[in-house]
Amino acid sequence: MAKIQAIRGMNDILPDQTPVWQYVESTVRKVLGQYGYQEIRMPVVEQTELFKRSIGEVTDIVEKEMYTFDDRNGDSLTLRPEGTAGCVRAAEEHGLLFNQTRRLWYTGPMFRHERPQKGRYRQFHQIGVECFGMAGPDIDAELLILTSRLWAALGLAGHTRLEINSIGTSDARKVYRQALVDYLGQYRDQLDDDSKRRLSTNPLRILDSKDAGTRKVLEGAPSLDNFLDQASLEHFDQLKALLDAAGVTYTVNPALVRGLDYYGKTVFEWITDSLGAQGTVCAGGRYDGLVEQLGGKATDAVGFAMGLERLILLLETLDLVPEHVNNQADVYVTAMGDKVIAPAMAIAEELRNALPGKVVVAHCGGGSFKSQMKKADRSGARYAVILGENELASGNVGLKPLRDDEPQQEVARVELAQLLVNRL
Ligand code: ATP
Ligand code: MG
Repeated sequence: MAKIQAIRGMNDILPDQTPVWQYVESTVRKVLGQYGYQEIRMPVVEQTELFKRSIGEVTDIVEKEMYTFDDRNGDSLTLRPEGTAGCVRAAEEHGLLFNQTRRLWYTGPMFRHERPQKGRYRQFHQIGVECFGMAGPDIDAELLILTSRLWAALGLAGHTRLEINSIGTSDARKVYRQALVDYLGQYRDQLDDDSKRRLSTNPLRILDSKDAGTRKVLEGAPSLDNFLDQASLEHFDQLKALLDAAGVTYTVNPALVRGLDYYGKTVFEWITDSLGAQGTVCAGGRYDGLVEQLGGKATDAVGFAMGLERLILLLETLDLVPEHVNNQADVYVTAMGDKVIAPAMAIAEELRNALPGKVVVAHCGGGSFKSQMKKADRSGARYAVILGENELASGNVGLKPLRDDEPQQEVARVELAQLLVNRL
């Protein structure tokens, strides 16, 4: 019978890949913890209406990328394409936003029906951060300082660059949108098909176009920064000053607009030049209008999401995964013969008591000395503990260093744990 395979663009993350995932996740978790952010966990499925109302009807995500289906009751549900909408829904539903500030984060799979390629999948994973109830540029700056710290912790400082922009209030964008449409309308023939379509649906997204002809036309287009309202300009100036003071370097990219409707004022992207076209590893901005748009009380908000697949790809491409991450075992306890299985297990337990931060693998499944030593070596362990009937009778064990050229030594079983505590 034909075997059933995984869905295109939805990846299994295999045992030899999970260590680097855990490394990235735990590093992010640690950094977010340092700043006092709290984790929130939302369902992966929400009512379709939630995404339509937040992300926007004429965005790429809602127009063509959502996994939407009717459930058995006939309700239209959607696998979440991003986390912000669900986070706002949950926070609002449980009264987390009323007269208080919140710093939240979440992680998990997101789903978009895109063309799978390197760095772009149909099920992918994000870590998202959302802050509520803070209007000033201070919290925008904090998010960027926090991400800088994260890049440093992962060894990525210098491999990611920050682009920021202000896209103003929705009123300011409305005026700009008209000016842009008036200008681009004169060069309609020279635009690519997507941009032609967007002229009437989502003209700001044309600024993002990669098409050479469209880019040429855009060179003469009116610039959004000339249309910004005073409050947005001041907010942006203050943000820049805070980033300067904190030593976070950035460039202002006036064409940076982001693909989701709910953004306003500050937007930003962390980009790497080492992954080709899929170079944005983290993206976000302010969305002061979204909570109200979803039926809540007006609440200032800012957040970002980073793509874990791209981050991991970047670490691997640059060979920045620390060696210890892939070394799963520290000690491998062998058991040569049926009579020593129980004592070998007892020794492994003693070692786990003495070395709570280390990985002690006990051999199971029998086999010859040679095959057990091969497994010990492949486990990545630094030491093999060798236990056979002779050792058992003498009260000793063999201790064999696996990573350096030292000889095997006989060690009294009662001294083994302390010896390994000193060496590991
Ligand atoms: P892009 O322009 O690359 O399509 P986007 O603007 O659609 O990105 P966001 O919705 O802002 O992306 O998502 C935030 C981050 O999530 C991205 O910067 C990226 O790292 C990651 N991401 C988005 N879509 C995918 C995908 N299909 N596969 C893998 N990672 C993704
Ligand atoms: Mg996209």
